Amino acid sequence: MSERALQILQSTFGYDEFRLHQQKIIEQLIMGKDAVVLMPTGGGKSLCYQIPAMVRDGVGIIVSPLIALMQDQVNALQQLGVKSAFLNSSLDHFESQEVEARLLNGEIDMLYVAPERLMTERFLNLLARAPIALFAVDEAHCVSQWGHDFRPEYIKLSVLHERFPSVPRIALTATADDTTRQEIIKRLSLQNAECYISGFDRPNICYRVAENQGTARDALYRFILNEHEGEAGIVYCLSRKKVEQTAEFLSNKGFDALPYHAGLSQQIRQKNQQRFLSEDGVIIVATIAFGMGIDKPDVRFVAHLNLPKSIEAYYQETGRAGRDGQPSDAWMMYGLQDVIMLKQMMETSDADETHKRVERHKLDSMLGFAELTTCRRQSLLKYFGDHLADPCGNCDTCITPVETWDATVAAQKALSCVHRTGQLYGVAYLTDILLGKENERIFNNGHNKLSVFGIGDELDAKQWRNLFRQLITRNLLSVDVQGHGSLLLAESCRRVLKGEESLHLRKQMLQSKTKKRQSKVSVSNNKLWELLRATRKRLSEELGVPPFVIFHDATLIDMMDRMPQNHDQFSNISGVGATKLENYADEFLAVLRDYDDETSANKTDTLVETLLLFKSGMNVELIAAQRSLTQSTVVNHLAKLIQQGDVVLTDVVTIPVKEIELIQDAIIELGDEAKKLKLIFEHLDGQYDYETLRCVKAAMELA
Ligand code: ADP
Ligand code: ZN
Repeated sequence: MSERALQILQSTFGYDEFRLHQQKIIEQLIMGKDAVVLMPTGGGKSLCYQIPAMVRDGVGIIVSPLIALMQDQVNALQQLGVKSAFLNSSLDHFESQEVEARLLNGEIDMLYVAPERLMTERFLNLLARAPIALFAVDEAHCVSQWGHDFRPEYIKLSVLHERFPSVPRIALTATADDTTRQEIIKRLSLQNAECYISGFDRPNICYRVAENQGTARDALYRFILNEHEGEAGIVYCLSRKKVEQTAEFLSNKGFDALPYHAGLSQQIRQKNQQRFLSEDGVIIVATIAFGMGIDKPDVRFVAHLNLPKSIEAYYQETGRAGRDGQPSDAWMMYGLQDVIMLKQMMETSDADETHKRVERHKLDSMLGFAELTTCRRQSLLKYFGDHLADPCGNCDTCITPVETWDATVAAQKALSCVHRTGQLYGVAYLTDILLGKENERIFNNGHNKLSVFGIGDELDAKQWRNLFRQLITRNLLSVDVQGHGSLLLAESCRRVLKGEESLHLRKQMLQSKTKKRQSKVSVSNNKLWELLRATRKRLSEELGVPPFVIFHDATLIDMMDRMPQNHDQFSNISGVGATKLENYADEFLAVLRDYDDETSANKTDTLVETLLLFKSGMNVELIAAQRSLTQSTVVNHLAKLIQQGDVVLTDVVTIPVKEIELIQDAIIELGDEAKKLKLIFEHLDGQYDYETLRCVKAAMELA
């Protein structure tokens, strides 16, 4: 059985091997047992039920709340040559009937159904007449009444167990903590199911958080331009107005940026979402209304222009980046204003005290995350109960270690300033006092006579602002509830004021200039990349499916790495199964071949140029300088030219003929091993440099 599974993985999906847990889960289902699967986004959940559905007799029924996605999933399966269909409210009566007929005739391997449809008596009766391979419950955390994605119909899914006791079931989710997991097991009656937990880490996402010094929009622009030009991304903002402004700003800068928020008509939202999903390189600027059910694999960045309310929200939103496993960025800007606003929003909400306590804790965790001076991934995973032993090396604090400074004295000054002015003022005014600004307001209040007036010139206004923000996020200061932005002393600040506790804070980072970098997808060859993408785009338009349904970025990258020349080699590319091989190999092979021809034409030109310079009497060093090449490249050229008979060995190599013969003897002696220059080099005790050896060898290969 499991050989059959591996065979399907390779021939239908075009992948070499199973990922962690996939094989066990698949075997479990094939044997008719239940499973609960917790895998991070992009971990490869779909295969866990798709392959058993194909191996087992009958149809696999996949329950999913995300109607918008069913069409895409079915498209993708059809591209792989898998017989699949979906049933939801987007189909009219006749279309539904047709699907049902195919179901009863055993013409479908996989059927995606919305839960409300599945739960109808009529449909359950229909299922009783068709052989069923398995039930897969996707987004299984929707059974949890405590989560934000709760779906009442999901609770009823335990019926499946009662009506079809012998059909194996699998529940899948990316977002379950332990409580939710227990709830899934209980509500879906999966008591005997094996649990597979893959951890939460998304290693391909680089977490970056920077301080907003009032220039967040420009920073966003530079970030996209330098690192993600022409790539798909999501930009989250807190308000509709900011969404509109940011989308317009990015559009004016020449990006394909579209707004998305609840204030837009259903029609416009639909259209913008569709363009984002089905075209390459569209940026969606959105409120958090956007995202649930976005299953686009090649989102290369998620940017936050505001701080999310909790780490859960942050992780879910950033999790939409890089589902395909390719390098992606989670980029966030936040500042004092965010902190004050979120704190006020929370304090003034009408939630009861217990609720508020939870919210407060969540916000504090989020703020703590933003201010971190240590590895962000370690902290994120710890929050979710996972453990990462070493710093990750793929977050901003790992890449550019943060400097801290002893802020105890400065903090004492700031706190006293709040105290002496009666806890009535906001950051800007307090900063003015610390800096000794002689303005009217201060004079009218007599604050120029305070002991704290002008005692803070060791920092500038920006740095004070930064310090105040960190005092607020650490709950040493709080913000008044009325919304005037006045700062109040918190109980916990006493210890700092008294000098019983010292404070080490993050040094304000200078806006570091990011250097122009090629797209984050590890593409070393931009031209070929664009050619392959253009071909994919053309095919996707012809077929009316999103580009990623044809091939994922990872598959195109693999093509560039391996440069297949025929069907056989093409079938070894990751993500190329039998059906895609048949449908697309020729198109893409043609692109690769044309590209190859063109570059080898270029190669000939460069040889000719070196030859001409050499004939004009220049030596290796001069040619290299003239052509801005390395000397080793020039020697390579000359070796080629020697081999082709265009240049004579003794014109290049200036050692006595006797020694040339010595090297030749060594090469003959080494036989096959002489393929490696290093072995010749060692055989001759390092007496001759690699350049000389290469040329002598080339002369022996003279055709
Ligand atoms: P999830 O539903 O867990 O977010 P998917 O099932 O969409 O993830 O899989 C994410 C990506 O990983 C897809 O592009 C999928 O084709 C790919 N993938 C899944 N399993 C494998 C595997 N064994 N080898 C290579 N790629 C895989
Ligand atoms: Zn890190």
